Amino acid sequence: MTYDASNIFAKIIRGELPAHKVYEDGQALVMMDIFPQSRGHVLVIPKAQSRNLLDADPAALSAVIPLVQKVAQAVKQVTGADGIRLAQFNEAPAGQTVFHLHFHIIPVYEGVPIGAHAGGRADDAELAALAGEIAAAL
Ligand code: 5GP
Repeated sequence: MTYDASNIFAKIIRGELPAHKVYEDGQALVMMDIFPQSRGHVLVIPKAQSRNLLDADPAALSAVIPLVQKVAQAVKQVTGADGIRLAQFNEAPAGQTVFHLHFHIIPVYEGVPIGAHAGGRADDAELAALAGEIAAAL
């Protein structure tokens, strides 16, 4: 399977579509998931083009994991979550819906079940506020 640059995350990286951005540098973009599985669900997206983990450049993976850790720490601090689930899907049968590599950082709250994958759309004002708080905690 080849990379298709018309996917929605590539459009967000190019600035063609809006996002609640938490952080951005030359290598990666961090934004709120608009269909969060829990409050504070964030996506870490390397800018290098790959469909998923399977075709990614190992150097891009090495560069992004420290950022994943840093964002997970900030998300936990801001949300007060009891744990953090890290998820990453490879190809449609495994649950992937957007074919540009990304890592899900999903806060887990004790006793609260995680919502459906790509379930209901979150309130934009709430996402914007969370994005600002997580950015400040980075
Ligand atoms: P995947 O299933 O590919 O691992 O995850 C794709 C994720 O992207 C889903 O959690 C879904 O909620 C999220 N998503 C889909 N479209 C958009 C969008 O336009 N903006 C943002 N921020 N997230 C999106």
